[in-house]
Amino acid sequence: MNDSFWQAAYIIAALCVVLSIKWLNSPVTARRGVRAGEFGMLLAVVGTLLRHEVVSFEWIAIAFVAGAAVGAPLAYLMPMTSVPQLTALSHAFGALAAALVGSAEYYTDVAAGHPTTGFKMVALVIESLLGYLTTTASVMAFGKLQEIVPTRPMTYKGQNVINLLLFAVAGVLGVWMITEPTPPWVFPAFTGLSLLFGILLIMPIGGGDMPTVIALLNSYAGAACAAMGFALENRLLIIAGALNASSGFILSVIMCKAMNRSFTNVLFGAFGAATTTTAAQASTKPVHSASAEDAAAILESARRVIVVPGYGMAVAQAQHKLRELTDILNKRGVQVDFAIHPVAGRMPGHMNVLLAEADIPYDKLHEMEDINPDFAEADVALVIGANDVVNPAARHDKTSPIYGMPILDVDKAHTVMVIKRSMNPGFAGIDNELYYNDKTLMLFGDAKGFLGEIVKALAANK
Ligand code: NDP
Repeated sequence: MNDSFWQAAYIIAALCVVLSIKWLNSPVTARRGVRAGEFGMLLAVVGTLLRHEVVSFEWIAIAFVAGAAVGAPLAYLMPMTSVPQLTALSHAFGALAAALVGSAEYYTDVAAGHPTTGFKMVALVIESLLGYLTTTASVMAFGKLQEIVPTRPMTYKGQNVINLLLFAVAGVLGVWMITEPTPPWVFPAFTGLSLLFGILLIMPIGGGDMPTVIALLNSYAGAACAAMGFALENRLLIIAGALNASSGFILSVIMCKAMNRSFTNVLFGAFGAATTTTAAQASTKPVHSASAEDAAAILESARRVIVVPGYGMAVAQAQHKLRELTDILNKRGVQVDFAIHPVAGRMPGHMNVLLAEADIPYDKLHEMEDINPDFAEADVALVIGANDVVNPAARHDKTSPIYGMPILDVDKAHTVMVIKRSMNPGFAGIDNELYYNDKTLMLFGDAKGFLGEIVKALAANK
C-alpha cells in the first residue's frame, strides 16, 4: 500500500513541478504556479516520509524544525530588494544538502567496501563536485550582494589558469574514484578542492553580475540534485533536478541577452572594474528640473503616458502611490501603460511582481519589444527610479560598458520625466545622457514621496 502511495505521490509531485514552471511564465497564472509548486513539494515530502527506507523519524523532525527556524524568518524578514541574496542562500543550502547526501552515500557504501556500479560512482562524483562548489560559490555570491565581501572583481595575474588547473586536479581525483578504489585521503581532498573552486570562481566576478551568476548557480544546484537522483535511484529528484538545472540555465541566458553580455564575459570579464561616474562628476553638466506641481500639470494635459519603473521604485516601495496616480490619470481620460525592461530592478520579473502587488492590471504591462515603437507617440515617458535600462548611450556609444544592451526608447517620447533622488549613477555605475536631453525634466526626490506630491497636486487641481 505504502509503496504504491509514494510512487503515485512522486508522479503527481513531478507533474506539479512541471506545471508550476509553465504557470510561472505569465503574471496571470503565476499565483497558480506557486500553489502547484508548493503542493508538489508537500506531496514529495509526504511521499518520501512513507518510504520503507525511513528508519527513524526523530532526526527528520529535528532537521525539519531547524530548517523551518532558519527558513521562515529569512522569508518574512528579507525585503523584496534582497531577493537575489535570499535566492543565493537557498541555493547554498540546497547544494549543501545534495553534497552531504553524496558524502554520506560515499562513506556508507563505497568506502565501506560495498560493491558499487561505475554509473553510481559517476553520479556520486558529479553530485559532490557540483554540490560543494555551488555551496561556497553561492555563499560568496550572497556575501558580495550583501556587501559583506568586497563587491569589486578580485583579480590577479594567471587567475583563470590557476582556477582551471584546480578544477582539473579535482576532475582527475574524481575520475580516479570512479575507476578504482582510492586511498582514504582522496575523497576529503576532492571535497576540499570543490569547496575552494567555488570561492575562486566567484572572486573575479563583480557584485553587479551576481544576479546572473545566481541563475547559473541555480542550474548547478539542479544538476547536483539530478545526479543525486541517479545515485539514489530516485526519479522525482532526477526530474525536479533536471528542470531546475535547465530553467536556471535558460534564465541566465535570457539575462545575458537582455544585457548584451556573453557567458564568458560575465564569468571572466571582471565587469564593474572600470572607473564609474560619481555624482560630483555628473552634476557639472546642466539639467532641467521641475516641481511636483509642474509634473502634475504636464501629466494632466497628456493623452498618453508610458511609465517606466526601475530599481529605485523597488527601493522606495512606490508601487502603491503609482497605482493611485494611475487611477487619477485614468479617471481624467489619460491612457497609462507600463513598459517593462527584462532586467529592470535586480531580478527578472522584479517589476512585474511589484506592480502586481499594487493591483495594476496585467494587460497594462508591456514587454520592451512590444512597447518601444509606442514611445514616439507618447506625450510623456515617466521614468521612476530606472536608469541604465533607459540610457541611450547603449544604442550608440561604443565605449560605454552597456553598449549593445537593448533599452527602452524613452528619449523618443515628447517629454521625459525622471524621478530619482540625485544625479547618482545606477547599477552599471555610468552617467546617463538622457538626463541632459532638452526634453527631459528631472524630478528630484524619493520615488514614493515625489509620486505622493504629484497625487496631491492633481487632487488640488480637481
Ligand atoms: P539602475 O540600478 O540602473 O538605477 C536605479 C536608479 O534608482 C538609480 O539611479 C537611483 O538613483 C534610483 N533610486 C534609488 N533609490 C531611489 C528612491 N528611493 N527613489 C527614487 N529613485 C531611487 O536601475 P534599472 O532598473 O534602470 O536597471 C537595472 C540594472 O540592474 C541594469 O544595469 C541591469 O543590467 C542590472 N541587473 C539587473 C538584473 C535583473 O535581472 N533585473 C540582473 C543583473 C543586473 P538615485 O540614487 O539618484 O536616487
